[in-house]
Amino acid sequence: MKILIIEDEPALLETLRHFLEKEKYIIETANDYFSGIEKVGTYDYDCILLDIMLPNGNGIDILKEIRKSGKKDSVIILSAKGSVEDKILGLDFGADDYLAKPFNLMELHSRIKSAIRRKNQDGEKFVSYKNVKLYPEERKILVDGTELSLNRKEFDLLYYFMIRPEKILQKTSLAESVWGDNIDQSDSLDFIYSQIKNLRKKLKDNNAEIDFQAVYGVGYKLV
Ligand code: CA
Repeated sequence: MKILIIEDEPALLETLRHFLEKEKYIIETANDYFSGIEKVGTYDYDCILLDIMLPNGNGIDILKEIRKSGKKDSVIILSAKGSVEDKILGLDFGADDYLAKPFNLMELHSRIKSAIRRKNQDGEKFVSYKNVKLYPEERKILVDGTELSLNRKEFDLLYYFMIRPEKILQKTSLAESVWGDNIDQSDSLDFIYSQIKNLRKKLKDNNAEIDFQAVYGVGYKLV
């Protein structure tokens, strides 16, 4: 799962990055209004942590831009002011949650998990398709009730597919969601092919009723 942190205070940004990377999220960052706008316009995130007072602009305007473009990324506002106006404004413009600084990292994590559950998993702690059930927070996968062990990238990749069954997913979206925004576009993306091949074998060996269908020139589909 990929999280974007838009925050201009370097120490807080690093604390958040360090904490969330330990929780196995892919972390992307922006430290002012313009880089934030560019990130949200170019990539998709499972959750965006959004500061309000930013150099060159306001986080609320970034939020408006996200919703105007129809994006459903979860947004949690982190505001220094703790003002009621900011909170109301943020929620009115489509933020999913609001946390006043200073906040507890465990509380932030619990709110991130909850926002992601609502966005990706219909509010549930798991996502299931056919005989496969995946618990993202515990990083656990069951096939017909039996646990299947995957490495980190295989797990992330499968999760990305599982919340989008029967949809054609582009190779670049898969790469960005699992390896991060800075996947070199000139790369052949052949590593996705080998990851999917390994994943397919593990699923098949464990009698999973799901498979990946290659869509020529585009990407893959979970079927
Ligand atoms: Ca700030």
